[in-house]
Amino acid sequence: MRLLVVEDDPDLNRQLVTALSDAGYAVDSATDGEEGHFLGDTEPYDAVILDLGLPVMDGVSVLEAWRREGRAMPVLILTARDRWSDKVAGFDAGADDYVAKPFHMEEVLARVRALLRRASGNASSELSCGDLVVDTAGARVTVAGNAIKLTSLEFRLLSYMMHHKGKVISRTELVEHLYDQDFDRDSNTIEVFVGRVRKKLGIHVLKTVRGLGYCLSEPDEQA
Ligand code: CA
Repeated sequence: MRLLVVEDDPDLNRQLVTALSDAGYAVDSATDGEEGHFLGDTEPYDAVILDLGLPVMDGVSVLEAWRREGRAMPVLILTARDRWSDKVAGFDAGADDYVAKPFHMEEVLARVRALLRRASGNASSELSCGDLVVDTAGARVTVAGNAIKLTSLEFRLLSYMMHHKGKVISRTELVEHLYDQDFDRDSNTIEVFVGRVRKKLGIHVLKTVRGLGYCLSEPDEQA
């Protein structure tokens, strides 16, 4: 899963990027509304954390522009505690949720998880496929109750596939959602990651769809 943080306060921006990266997401960040708008308009984010008070272009205008342009990713807005009118303006502009400043980072992380799972039609924070269970809240993976150790990139790949269970995901799409914009991307390495995750899981849920990409679905007898 890949996220965008748009926040002009440098300390808060860094704290958000660090916490979200530590939680296993690929994270890009912008410090003004214009740059944030551009990134959200050109890169395929799974969710965005958007401050409303931003230089150059304010957060509500950024959000309105994205929605007008058909960008439908979930957006969590950051508002000032005492400004109820900001929340109303934010929701009317197309926000999905908000957190008032100052906030606890755990709350932002929980709200982001909720936005991501709702966007993919999952009600529970535990995603499962056969014996495979991915606990998105604790970033834990088990197969038939046994814990599986994955690197953060492997977990990001599995989590993205679990959030899009049953859908064919191209290598290009995977690359776009696993790496931040500064990463030296190479779609060939995806094959290697998929191979490693398959081996660690030991069950055949991550399937290759020849010429199209990958699809995560219930294990079959090929395992
Ligand atoms: Ca601000």
